Amino acid sequence: MHEISIATSIIDSVIELAAQNNAKKVKEISIEIGKLAMIDKEQLKFGVEILANDTLCKGMNVEIKFLPVKIKCKNKHITTIDEDVEFLDIPKYLKCGKCGDNEGIEILQGKEILIRKVVFE
Ligand SMILES: [Zn+2]
Repeated sequence: MHEISIATSIIDSVIELAAQNNAKKVKEISIEIGKLAMIDKEQLKFGVEILANDTLCKGMNVEIKFLPVKIKCKNKHITTIDEDVEFLDIPKYLKCGKCGDNEGIEILQGKEILIRKVVFE
């Protein structure tokens, strides 16, 4: 499952960060995922919480937020798409809101998985 491997790398990074900061416990993390990353938020949260159990992240608060998709067309218009994206419909969404261009689209934001905030205790 996609979400579990992502959850694993999130927990690994948080533990590494905790070690660098000499922290004994992680209280809270905040994750941001682009809507094109095709992550199921509940599954990711569940995976992170399960994996946290055997670590210093046990019991931490996990906050997950979606980032809207930002694209740039070949005419350099920027469009923000904040609707929920269905995998099969991706090509339909990636269209300039101004000129309708859908061929020279550059994705500026929407595929990332970021750990935005980690709070230690
Ligand atoms: Zn355009």
